[in-house]
Amino acid sequence: MQDTIERIRKFRDERDWKQFHDPKNLAVSISIEAAELLELFQWKTGDEAGRFAAENKERVSEEIADVAIYLIELADVTGIDLAKAIEAKLDKNARKYPVDKARGVSTKYTDLK
Ligand SMILES: [Mg+2]
Repeated sequence: MQDTIERIRKFRDERDWKQFHDPKNLAVSISIEAAELLELFQWKTGDEAGRFAAENKERVSEEIADVAIYLIELADVTGIDLAKAIEAKLDKNARKYPVDKARGVSTKYTDLK
């Protein structure tokens, strides 16, 4: 992960883009790139989307990478350790969705019985 962070910083700084990459603009950019990812699947059924992803891995991969690059940079500029944040959130989610209550159901944690 550290090598990836360094490479993203280098790419940004070589272009003097740090001035544009504040947290608000990075959050906006994550959403825009996530929308580009969604656009690939727009109007497809679940099955069609699965086939599309399998048959168009490069296009899907590029949009996933766009989201990830902005996400990693947002974590970097806000001083958040992304790996630790993910671990902490998975721990929290595990408490919100105990296996015995959540297994095989898509119910939101607030409505789990
Ligand atoms: Mg894109």
